[in-house]
Amino acid sequence: MTDDNCIFCKIAGGVIPSTTLYEDEDFRVILDLGPASRGHALILPKQHFADVCALDGDIAAKVLPLGAKIGSAMKKSLGCAGFNLVQNNGEAAGQTVFHFHMHVIPRYEGGPAMVSWTPGKASPEELAEVADKIKGCL
Ligand code: 5GP
Ligand code: ZN
Repeated sequence: MTDDNCIFCKIAGGVIPSTTLYEDEDFRVILDLGPASRGHALILPKQHFADVCALDGDIAAKVLPLGAKIGSAMKKSLGCAGFNLVQNNGEAAGQTVFHFHMHVIPRYEGGPAMVSWTPGKASPEELAEVADKIKGCL
């Protein structure tokens, strides 16, 4: 199912042109228009799912292998030393387009820091309390 008001549905379906790296019956992989690094790509399912919580199980099972395939090709072709697979869910997490997508971000030796955070501190009691809360909703 697609959403007529969704730009990624239009891109994934080929209605809006994009720089496409890969396409099959379930996915289109495109270059990001605002790349975090050279080669930054987006894996778009052709069906509309708002985020990972809405994602179909069969499609979900194919996303990580596809991320590995694209990332491996980036290492061979672009000479990046590694890559990040990043997937944002919800505005608070940085999601700006509400059609599930996974970023594949090539990382180069000596490149800028990104996808990182400053480790905080938590007591064993706090960890246990947080764990109990989450486990209560699984
Ligand atoms: P999010 O912040 O939702 O995880 O990521 C959305 C990404 O989509 C951003 O990196 C942004 O640069 C990219 N983007 C937004 N609109 C377009 C577009 O029309 N074409 C392409 N290729 N990328 C887009
Ligand atoms: Zn969509």
